[in-house]
Amino acid sequence: MTGGSIRNAMSVDVEDWFQVYNYFGVIPRDAWETLDRRVEARTDEVLELFASAGVQATFFTLGWVAERHPALIRRIVAGGHELASHGHGHELVVQIGPERFRADLLRAKRLLEDAGGVAVTGYRAPTFSLSPSLTPWAYPILAETGHTYSSSVFPGRHAGAGDAEILPWRPLGSSVLELPMTVLRLPGRTLPVAGGGPFRATPQPLFLSALRRVNALGRRGIFYFHPWEIDPDQPRIPGLSFAKQFKHFTGLRQMAPRLSALLHAFDWARMDEVFAAELADPGSSLPLAAE
Ligand SMILES: [Zn+2]
Repeated sequence: MTGGSIRNAMSVDVEDWFQVYNYFGVIPRDAWETLDRRVEARTDEVLELFASAGVQATFFTLGWVAERHPALIRRIVAGGHELASHGHGHELVVQIGPERFRADLLRAKRLLEDAGGVAVTGYRAPTFSLSPSLTPWAYPILAETGHTYSSSVFPGRHAGAGDAEILPWRPLGSSVLELPMTVLRLPGRTLPVAGGGPFRATPQPLFLSALRRVNALGRRGIFYFHPWEIDPDQPRIPGLSFAKQFKHFTGLRQMAPRLSALLHAFDWARMDEVFAAELADPGSSLPLAAE
């Protein structure tokens, strides 16, 4: 293991290819039911990938998916993975406001817990659309609905107070632990080291060395990807701008082998295990190392 003794957190955002925010305005929400549903087969491939690498991960899953694929939810839990919430309808927290956010969270939690038979306490906002400055009301609602942590902030994407925090912390005096997505601070820029599109667009050796750097600083990485990212043959819908096509489709064919290499190059575990010490101590916000 090249990452030393540090365990990093592996996560999957379980949603179908047409639910990605990139398609907002191109694929209307009421067309979702008519589209080729591919999430169950692709997530099964993800489960195989993890099983062959001996990795257990956190699956931030849409309630929408749990409602239609409860057997998949049971297989995720049976694999020893952590079942967590990605909300219900993949709506942006910043757009729906407090009341709809609460309803969306509760609906997802009920569907996931009913299907999985386990408590769901982790949450990731769709498209990292939650932030201490843009949606300060979101943390109390997460706490009130039974969530203990959120992994919803991508430092550097928003400019407000607290949005740039890169270590685990409890925003706004909330009991909810925020686990920001991994970035490296370089002179003049913030480099994402967390997966998704930038992982597919970055040469693999460069990404691996950036994550090694994060670990060398004493920090645990949080990586994420989507089942549709290992699906190069997914439908292509006309109407996406060139930039959005690039973002969605670049590197899909190399994604599975790259993931496999990544899984073997570092130590990985579920979010709730990697951050167990902070989760167990409600007063803690433990920086592991200064940067
Ligand atoms: Zn998502």
